Amino acid sequence: VERTLAMIKPDAVRNGHVDSIIAACEAAGFVVAGRTDQQLTTSQASQFYAEHEGKEFFAGLTTFMTSGPVVALLLEKPNAIKDWRALMGPTNTEKAKSEAPESLRALYGTDGTQNATHGSDSFISAAREAAFWFPGDLAK
Ligand code: ATP
Ligand code: MG
Repeated sequence: VERTLAMIKPDAVRNGHVDSIIAACEAAGFVVAGRTDQQLTTSQASQFYAEHEGKEFFAGLTTFMTSGPVVALLLEKPNAIKDWRALMGPTNTEKAKSEAPESLRALYGTDGTQNATHGSDSFISAAREAAFWFPGDLAK
């Protein structure tokens, strides 16, 4: 069955939304196959978001992502990658609120950078990100 890597970002953890997000995830048919709660170092955050290095928002992104603990989830479901991105809604929280008011980012996000959740955007990123968070058997 297809897997994706999700994260509950520091704003949503700080604001007490972890249980609500996991409940919404399970209600949408995802099975949580792995969970780890950790605070990223700057080096880890830069590695995780390496594709965005050099962009104007990169420093703000890594500062945000290291500002508190995150919850990384390995999620299983047919079509998990696309379905999780659909459940999250648009990247920008304001856009999510106007275009997808029931989405996780609309409900739990803060702004353009602090947007509550992450989801892998392809099979290749899902495999890379699962191995990043769950090195060992779980990621295989
Ligand atoms: P994620 O990879 O976190 O699931 P995404 O795939 O929807 O989000 P990306 O383009 O990969 O969006 O951007 C990664 C993250 O960088 C966003 O989730 C957001 O936190 C931040 N970000 C993206 N674009 C901007 C921007 N223009 N201004 C500020 N922050 C941004
Ligand atoms: Mg992305």
